[in-house]
Amino acid sequence: MARKTAIITGSTSGIGLAVAERFAADGFAVVINSYSDGEEDHAIARDLAARHDTDVAYVQADMSKPDQCRRLVAEAAERFGGIDVLVNNAGIQHVAPIEDFPTAKWDAIIAINLSSAFHTIAAAVPLMKKAGSGRIINVASAHGLVASPYKSAYVAAKHGIMGLTKTVALELATSGVTCNAICPGYVLTRLVESQIPDQMKTHGMDRETVIKEVMLDRQPTSEFATVEQIAATAAFLASDAAVQITGTHISVDGGWTAA
Ligand code: NAD
Repeated sequence: MARKTAIITGSTSGIGLAVAERFAADGFAVVINSYSDGEEDHAIARDLAARHDTDVAYVQADMSKPDQCRRLVAEAAERFGGIDVLVNNAGIQHVAPIEDFPTAKWDAIIAINLSSAFHTIAAAVPLMKKAGSGRIINVASAHGLVASPYKSAYVAAKHGIMGLTKTVALELATSGVTCNAICPGYVLTRLVESQIPDQMKTHGMDRETVIKEVMLDRQPTSEFATVEQIAATAAFLASDAAVQITGTHISVDGGWTAA
């Protein structure tokens, strides 16, 4: 039987890499992606393929560029004969007060965190509809549901992807294709590490105080979520058990958005 295929955008580190690892472990053929085209990117694919005895390809595509988003889907489908799961994960962050927020950062965050999902979904849907099945999983955020100061672009993009998720789910409701979001709270990845210096500056705090009082203060469990927990949630949404789950989200945020 042919392997099912999963594409994960932005998957050379953090949550995306853990999701790729999980789908490889579950026997999927996996397409991993980032914007660079270094030897280390291809080495990640080779390593996953060898450890999980499956097919893994690295496809370079910059998720800030509409044509490259669409090319990623086309290349994946051509290589593995179809797309069963599309995980829109690529994302960046910038932290600054609204009046100082650089326009170029706003544009990049909207392009990578929101518009890329529009383009990959638009390219994948005809293939999924034809197959009569498919799973679209958007890695949103607790910031898709609630806001925090100094993250105007990120919060706007993540709220946007929640709307996109619901709209696509309704359009595809009778097609066998589901579309859902995962809303992580804080997960200690490169993206979060890189916010700590800015948060220290903005709040006038040291590293430990930012982690405790700005980040984990929002999570009632006082613990980071892990990349493996986000990957397991994606695997569940891709499973047969989740076939009637569409147009919604699963929060993995230690209770953040319950408050
Ligand atoms: P990360 O920085 O470790 O990973 C981001 C990935 O996206 C990397 O592989 C990077 O190469 C890739 N990427 C960045 N720009 C790209 C571009 N232009 N084209 C293609 N790929 C690009 O960060 P992460 O924490 O693993 O974040 C992954 C997703 O999870 C993001 O959408 C983020 O908003 C979301 N998220 C993260 C957290 C958290 O606390 N870490 C919480 C909620 C949501």
